[in-house]
Amino acid sequence: MTKGGMESVEVFTSEGKGRGLKAQKEFLPGDVIFAEPAYAAVVFDSLTHVICHTCFKRQERLHRCGQCKFAYYCDRTCQRAAWLNHKNECSAIKRHGKAPTENIRLAARIMWKMEREGSGLSEGCLVSIDDLQNHVEHFGEEEKKDLRVDVESFLEFWPPQSQQFGVQYISHIFGVINCNAFTLSDQRGLQAVGVGIFPNLCQANHDCWPNCTVIFNNGNHEAVRSMFHTQMRIELRALSKISPGDELTVSYVDFLNVSEERRKQLKKQYYFDCTCEHCKKQIKDDLMLAVKEGDNKPSAETVKEVIQFSKDTLEKINKARLEGVYHEVVKLCRDCLKKQEPVLGDTNLYLLRILSIASEVLSYLQMFEEAADYAKRMVDGYMKIYHPNNAQLGMAVMRAGVTHWHAGLIEAGHGMICKAYAILLITHGPSHPITKDLEVMRVQTEMELRMFQQNEFMYYKMREAALKNQKIQVMPEPSNETAPSLFHKKE
Ligand SMILES: [Zn+2]
Ligand SMILES: [Zn+2]
Ligand SMILES: [Zn+2]
Repeated sequence: MTKGGMESVEVFTSEGKGRGLKAQKEFLPGDVIFAEPAYAAVVFDSLTHVICHTCFKRQERLHRCGQCKFAYYCDRTCQRAAWLNHKNECSAIKRHGKAPTENIRLAARIMWKMEREGSGLSEGCLVSIDDLQNHVEHFGEEEKKDLRVDVESFLEFWPPQSQQFGVQYISHIFGVINCNAFTLSDQRGLQAVGVGIFPNLCQANHDCWPNCTVIFNNGNHEAVRSMFHTQMRIELRALSKISPGDELTVSYVDFLNVSEERRKQLKKQYYFDCTCEHCKKQIKDDLMLAVKEGDNKPSAETVKEVIQFSKDTLEKINKARLEGVYHEVVKLCRDCLKKQEPVLGDTNLYLLRILSIASEVLSYLQMFEEAADYAKRMVDGYMKIYHPNNAQLGMAVMRAGVTHWHAGLIEAGHGMICKAYAILLITHGPSHPITKDLEVMRVQTEMELRMFQQNEFMYYKMREAALKNQKIQVMPEPSNETAPSLFHKKE
C-alpha cells in the first residue's frame, strides 16, 4: 500500500489522547503537510440545487443530473468526475422516489465506496473507516434516538442489490460521521455548504493553540488538462515551525472563548477534556474578561450587570438578524456599546462580539465610516487574543480592510489588506481563491494609496467619479450562521 503523499506524517499513540499525528520532517509556517481528497462528501440538504456536488463551489447556473434530477454540477467536467460516487446514489434516489437527508446520503456514499474498495486501508489513507472512532457509547438518550431514526431511514434507502451491512456496522458509520465529519465551505469561505469525511485529518488531535490549521480548497476544475488542475481537497498547513517528532494539532473550536467555555464545548461535541497549555493555564482568559482599569474601575456589581445586558442584547440581535431587520441590529449594537464602553476592557469578548456584528451589518448597509471605526477596534482586540497566523483573524482583518477601503480610508485599508494577505498566504496558501482576491485588492489599494499620497485632492475627485459611475461592491449579506465550524457536529 502506497502512502499517497502521506510520507511526512506518522500515526502514533499520544499519551492520554489516543491516536495522534506526528511530523516526520521539519515544516515551516505555510507549508502544506498533506492534502487529502474526501473519502466521501455531500452537499447540505438546503443547498443541493445551488452548490456543485463535485467541487462544492457556488455557481450561478448549474447542470442537473438528467437521471435523478437531484444532483447539480458546474459543467461536464464536474459531472464526469462525480459519476463514480454518484452512480449508485443516482439509481437509489430514483428507486426511493426522493433523496434522503445529508446524513443518510453521506453514510451511503461511504458504504458504496467500501463496497467498491473493501473496508480495509484505501490508497493514501493512514487509517481505515473501520478504525475511526464513533463514540456511540457516549451518546445520551436524545442522540441514541436520532441514531435509531438515521439507521431506519438508511435501511429504507439502501438498495437490496448493494452489499448488505448489519445494524451495528451502520451505527458505527453514523457515529463516525457524528464526531469526525468536516464542514466544507464555498469558494469564498463565507458559507458552510456541505460535509465530508477525511480519515487522515481525523487523526490530528485538538489543541486550543495548535501548530497546524486545516483549510478546504474547492480546487480548480476549469483548468482540467493543464498543470494547474487541482481537485477538491483539504490541506493541513503548518502555522509555526514544526520539528520532526512534534505532534501535529489543529483546533476544533474557535479560540475566541474563555478556556472554561471552550472545554465545555469540546466535551459536549467531541467527548474529551481539553488539557492543552492554554486551557490548563487559562492563558488569555484575563484579556477576554478584561474590564476598565484605573480611577474609574467599575465595581464587580456593575461588570456583572453589563455582561448580563450584553448577553440579553446578543439574543435580541440574533433574533433580529434571523428576521433580516438589520436597522434594528444596528440600534441594539449602538445601545449595547454605550453600556459596555465605560466598563469593559478593549479585549473583552462581549465588546468584541458586538463590534464584530456592528461592523459587518453596517458594511452591508453601506454605512462604511461607522463600520470602519468598529472594525478597527475589533481587529485591534483580535490581534491581542488570536495566534498571529490564525485563519479567523486573517478573515476578520480582510473584512476590516475592505470596510476601510470603502469608507475612503485608503491608508488604513491598504495596511489591513496587506496584513490579511500575509496571514492568508500561510493559512490558505497562494492558490486559494480568497488569497487571490486579496492579491487583487492589495494591488488596487496600493495604486490608490500612491495616488492619494501624490495628490489628495485628485484622489478624492477620482473616487467620487468612480463611485458615481460604478456601483460600489456590495458586501455579502451578513450570514445568520455563526462562522462555519471546522468539524461538522449537530449542536
Ligand atoms: Zn463543480
Ligand atoms: Zn443522478
Ligand atoms: Zn484547550
